[in-house]
Amino acid sequence: MAFRVGTTMEPAGERSDEELAASLVARAVEIETKMAEIEAAAVTAAGGIGFGKRVGEGTNIAVERIGEVAVHDRLIAELVTVRRAQAKLAGGSEGRCDECGVEIPPERLEVLPWAVRCVNCAD
Ligand SMILES: [Zn+2]
Repeated sequence: MAFRVGTTMEPAGERSDEELAASLVARAVEIETKMAEIEAAAVTAAGGIGFGKRVGEGTNIAVERIGEVAVHDRLIAELVTVRRAQAKLAGGSEGRCDECGVEIPPERLEVLPWAVRCVNCAD
């Protein structure tokens, strides 16, 4: 994405499988890195003690952790989507909606290369 320098040779929306595969891998790595950071932070905050073992002083940590868990859950969901997009690419069904089977518009894939559903079916 960083090196999209407006070449006239390649019209927007023309994305090769290799490019798509590369952006999916890059996204998966990004997500896994963020998840690892959150997991590491959670372990540090808990001081090695498991979830929900401390009352009182642990309250702030618990509240903070709700936000972290929500982010973590979103990351997991996103990773599932990216993996699904990778599977679709491998199976040759990339760019088609998982729900209704319509072709996902290139503009959408441009923004969300790992989109596995069309705008109508996306939640
Ligand atoms: Zn659809």
